[in-house]
Amino acid sequence: MILMAIPNIGDLEGEYLAECVRTNFVSTVGPFVSRFEAEVADMHGSEMGVATSAGTTSLHVGLVALGVKPGDIVICPSFTFIATANAIRHQHADAWLMDINSETWTIDPDKMDEALKRETSRIDGELIHTKSGKRVAAIVPVYTLGNLAEMDHINQIAKDFKLPILADAAAAIGVNYKGRNLSDIADLTSFSFNGNKTITSGGGGMLIGRNLDALKRAKHLSTTARTSPNYDYDEVGFNYRMTNIQAAVGCAQLKRLSGFLERKRHVRRVYNKAFSGFDGVSIFPNHDINNSACWFSGLILDQVKTPTVQDVCVQLKGHKIEARPFWKPVHVQPQYLQSFCEDMSETNSIWDKIITLPSSTNITDQELDVVVTTLSKILKS
Ligand SMILES: *Cc1c(COP(=O)(O)O)cnc(C)c1O
Repeated sequence: MILMAIPNIGDLEGEYLAECVRTNFVSTVGPFVSRFEAEVADMHGSEMGVATSAGTTSLHVGLVALGVKPGDIVICPSFTFIATANAIRHQHADAWLMDINSETWTIDPDKMDEALKRETSRIDGELIHTKSGKRVAAIVPVYTLGNLAEMDHINQIAKDFKLPILADAAAAIGVNYKGRNLSDIADLTSFSFNGNKTITSGGGGMLIGRNLDALKRAKHLSTTARTSPNYDYDEVGFNYRMTNIQAAVGCAQLKRLSGFLERKRHVRRVYNKAFSGFDGVSIFPNHDINNSACWFSGLILDQVKTPTVQDVCVQLKGHKIEARPFWKPVHVQPQYLQSFCEDMSETNSIWDKIITLPSSTNITDQELDVVVTTLSKILKS
């Protein structure tokens, strides 16, 4: 079976893991955690990194560190992985769901700006959502598939409305924004090292960013808010630490990040080239492949001149090729039907037309060939 996005593990991961076992540092204490934090922070221009147990927990503790409180409202795009919205709810806040633009599939700043102007007012220094009376507390743009959002514009809006930004960069490690470091364009930025991301630590996440106070606070909160080894704590913290075993794998993976990114971009170019001319088929947006992490690649099927996404997935499976639809947006999930929700015309027009194709960093040229040939036949039949 040719799979979608599987871990690409080498000998170094094994060596580092053996080192954890040999030195007995297998848990939340150990040199790999601080090394992984320092290396990821450094490569994105951040003064500090805060490693966590998952991307979801890094988003959650990031929101808390930026001052989001129970009962607040947090802005995010509806077209995202469910974890973005879940992290907001884990803080007992409500998501205010926004549409995306068609060029990058990231949050549409014009529509967000309009919604903020229309739906909020400033009362006693707080930004209040007029209809609900709740405080709007943060913006969470998502770097969909490793495509950067329009961060200049989003930062302008954040400044106008005095809102902090937590960027969900789960799949955008190693990318920069118009030559600027990832950590400089949002107060906090959150990565995931889940098994299907560009690099993995088995599971894990990390916060970096330009807001050093928030990073320090996130570190404190994610490590149980301990103030001394004698069981002293100063607030309700979380046990969201990454283990030395996870960080060992992460450190080894990091050495190969640039090669992995190159391979991801190669996969995107191969699919773009092979399927550009097909009737009813479009390639993924953001043609500036070098500025995207190209986490997954795939196609957009109009499902009129082409078979449905589901049908193509079933047919590919028959040829031992895994393919899947992509994110089902938050606003159609039963547990989020009550969320504050703006016009979703772009999201609704695109999400169920996307098919994601095998995009592993260890996919061979021969396997790519098989995918292209098989899928071409399916689309022409
Ligand atoms: C993977 C992902 C997450 C969650 O990361 P986990 O490590 O699986 O908790 C959050 N947001 C987005 C956009 C993701 O792709």
